Amino acid sequence: MSDCIFCKIARREIPSEIVYEDDEIIAFKDIQPLAPVHLVVIPKSHLRSLNDVTSEYEALMGHLLGVIRRLASEFGVAESGYRVVTNTGTDGGQVVGHLHFHLLGGQALNAKIG
Ligand code: 5GP
Ligand code: ZN
Repeated sequence: MSDCIFCKIARREIPSEIVYEDDEIIAFKDIQPLAPVHLVVIPKSHLRSLNDVTSEYEALMGHLLGVIRRLASEFGVAESGYRVVTNTGTDGGQVVGHLHFHLLGGQALNAKIG
């Protein structure tokens, strides 16, 4: 997707603080963090939301959750606790139309954060 912000981040056409990358996944710091640790983890493939995650993407999603688990440990929130959020669609509050998972932690999270 040529005009998608997160595709552009994955292609490094928009600068971001990338904290993890492999062939399928990239993770970067959220530009407007809602918590001391606020990472955005995305598949490089342009899936619009969780609604696009059909069975062919099950392995990718398992891999992505494993990356999130390792990032939680690396960023020091595995024991203190964290939240993983994927906003989906208008009512879900999704702003960027490329599937992404927020990893939030580093403080006690208000019920509304994420
Ligand atoms: P959504 O509301 O769609 O679930 O979350 C989109 C997230 O992407 C927001 O938390 C927002 O701050 C973040 N974001 C939007 N544009 C950029 C950007 O250009 N760079 C980075 N690092 N984060 C962004
Ligand atoms: Zn995209």
